[in-house]
Amino acid sequence: MIKNFTRNTYIIVAALLLAGYLVSILAVTNLGQTRLNESLHRELELKVENYASALEYFFYVTNEDINTLSQTPVMHAFFANLASGMSMKYGLASSILALDRKLAYTIKNKTINQQKIYDRFTLISLDGSVISDTSPNSATNIDIQELNNHSTRPAFFRTVDSVSSNEIQLVKMVLYSGTPTGYLVATLNKKVIFEQLTSQESEQSKSRIELLSNYGHSFLWNSPLNSDTLITKQQLAEAINFSLPIKNTPFVLNSWFEPVEHKSVLTSSWFTLGLSFLAIPVFAGLIYIFVINNANLVLRTKIDASRKQQGLLSSKNKQLIEEIEKRKESELKLSYQASHDALTGLPNRSYGNQRLQVEIDKANYNNSNLLVMFIDLDNFKQINDTLGHLAGDEVLKQSTDRLINAVGSKDLLSRLGGDEFLFIIPELDNQEVSKKYAEEILKLFDEPFVWNNQKFFVSISIGMSRYPQDGNSTQQLLANADMAMYSVKQDGRNAYSFYNTEMSSNVQRNLNLDGRLRYAIANQELELYYQPIIDLESSKIIGAEALMRWNDNEYGMIPPDEFIPLAEGNGLIHQLGEFAIMSACQQAAQWQSIAPLSISINFSSVQFRYCEKLFTQIRYSLMKSGLKPELLDIEITENLLFNHNEDVINLLNKLRTMGVRLTIDDFGTGYSALSYLQKFPFDQLKIDRSFLMNIRKNKADRELVTAIVAMAKALNLSVVAEGIEEQWHTNFLNSIHCEFGQGFLYSKPVPAVEFEKLLIANLEETRDHQPALNIVK
Ligand code: C2E
Ligand code: MG
Ligand code: MG
Repeated sequence: MIKNFTRNTYIIVAALLLAGYLVSILAVTNLGQTRLNESLHRELELKVENYASALEYFFYVTNEDINTLSQTPVMHAFFANLASGMSMKYGLASSILALDRKLAYTIKNKTINQQKIYDRFTLISLDGSVISDTSPNSATNIDIQELNNHSTRPAFFRTVDSVSSNEIQLVKMVLYSGTPTGYLVATLNKKVIFEQLTSQESEQSKSRIELLSNYGHSFLWNSPLNSDTLITKQQLAEAINFSLPIKNTPFVLNSWFEPVEHKSVLTSSWFTLGLSFLAIPVFAGLIYIFVINNANLVLRTKIDASRKQQGLLSSKNKQLIEEIEKRKESELKLSYQASHDALTGLPNRSYGNQRLQVEIDKANYNNSNLLVMFIDLDNFKQINDTLGHLAGDEVLKQSTDRLINAVGSKDLLSRLGGDEFLFIIPELDNQEVSKKYAEEILKLFDEPFVWNNQKFFVSISIGMSRYPQDGNSTQQLLANADMAMYSVKQDGRNAYSFYNTEMSSNVQRNLNLDGRLRYAIANQELELYYQPIIDLESSKIIGAEALMRWNDNEYGMIPPDEFIPLAEGNGLIHQLGEFAIMSACQQAAQWQSIAPLSISINFSSVQFRYCEKLFTQIRYSLMKSGLKPELLDIEITENLLFNHNEDVINLLNKLRTMGVRLTIDDFGTGYSALSYLQKFPFDQLKIDRSFLMNIRKNKADRELVTAIVAMAKALNLSVVAEGIEEQWHTNFLNSIHCEFGQGFLYSKPVPAVEFEKLLIANLEETRDHQPALNIVK
């Protein structure tokens, strides 16, 4: 920019300098011209002055000559002879002759530059008669009257117009003895005058010189180029004019010269103008350079702008490329994120589904088989609820690590969401191999998980479907594998199952039951059965466990293991719980009149989500029924205990403070029972019936049960053993000082009416110290 600015400035400065230079040249030229004009003018003036003085001198000389002639002795002798009356015959003629000679002589000898000064002398008497004439043959053209009019002047010049030309005459009065006697008239040679006045003129001179007198002008010189007729008024007005009087004569010298500027190019104003015009191309050149420079400037600016633009474009381009790269990266990342699970890094549900479709297509094309495995962690929800989401996440990650060990190169493991995994195993058509595969995967979960220094076991349930026999679409294969997995859950978890068509009807059944359960609650189709809890030592019924029953019109008797989870899932558990508490309390209160037995009611951990409400329900039921809180035994499972929710602990403490008894149900099937026994205010624990199932044959189970009982004693807890089905169980339990028990050996859960009968019968039997209750089938 500065560079361009400077370049233009240079041009402008150069133009200004040039303009200054031209102005000064013009000024100097003008001045020079003026001076030259002045000097030429002066030169002309001097020339004219010179002419005038030469003429003056000429006239002076002629005057002198005529003076001398008028007083010459010859003249004097003539007039003396005339005055004396001398006749022509006796001497006057000789006087005239002498006079003639004298005058002729003067004409002949008075010369300038070998030119005669006088053309003619004429001596005239006062009466006008010619006395002597050097040109006697020519007419005199002298008017004596006119001469006499000038008689006061001794000598004078006059111009006379003759026929051929005009003449200049010098007239001298001749005196004799002081008296005028005649006139001597000298006609001057005009050529001599002409030469005097044009000595410095040439044919090329453009000038006009006039000698003017009172009697009319006497034209003397006119430049041939400016003939009289051709001189215009304009020319005369422009011409340099001098007018000088010739001293002592009646003449005035008028002269006109061509203006000096016409003479030389250098003095002409056209020269200055020409010089000025010279500046035009120079200025035009400068303007051209300026314009070119400006054009260059524009061009350069455009080039600069285009360079800038180019730079900008290339940087934008670079940015764009970077942006595209970033986008690609983020798209890759996004597509990875869209197709992968953030927690485990496994392909997610949609990607898993896509891959399943691909494998189905492949299997279809290759006419091969495909195994779809639906893997679900058992009780994962409880882990999340009880140990928290961090623990849940850790379990999922560790589970992923374990599952990855089973993945073959062609297999695909993906996480469908939550605790569900999908395993796709292509080209697996042998059911035995599939089973082995499933077993191996189950074994991966034999090892405990560790979280916060706590060890716990997480099993899995595997449902399997096969292409093409179990379905030919992703939806079908997944739904069927899911169903198979669900059936495993139903059957107690920690196992695998292949899909079969029955499962579909189970699912349908579940769906139907869900709807029917609501209806059942509204129509009071639910009923509580009661199973006696026995003092094993005395076989006396000391309590009853309320177990819910649902006898559906269509499906018949539905076990609580089926509808309780259903109710937990759809939220109906709260209504079921409310019904159980109220009915059981009222029933127990009623039975108090027969025997002081306690009532055990099962509570789902889901019911503890609304502790306040639950507490109000319990308190209200106790109040309404009038049952003593000490006779209410609340059974909760270990699952609830993992949840360190303050509300739960507060509720348990409040119930305990009220006098309500707390029992931990299904002891031994949960995660880590022992530590919670100390933390929570339990009164009793129930050993899960699974421990008693094989106790007769299994020494380890016997030892375990023995240990549990010992531990409970140490913690000051009473123990109830579930699932007593044979006398051996009672004997064993008695031997390890397990106080209480319940089981089919004594009675199945029965309706209240029947329980009442049992109670009465038991009262009587135990009063007589009869053996244990009969088995009620
Ligand atoms: P639970 O609380 O452990 O109940 C004992 C279960 O063992 C009962 O099954 C009972 O019939 C069964 N049982 C007792 N003695 C024996 C025996 O000698 N042999 C065998 N094979 N089984 C025996 P039921 O009634 O099917 O109840 C199953 C579970 O359903 C209960 O297990 C309890 O967890 C739940 N449940 C039942 N009623 C309710 C209820 O009103 N509320 C809640 N939340 N859960 C309930
Ligand atoms: Mg129970
Ligand atoms: Mg139980």
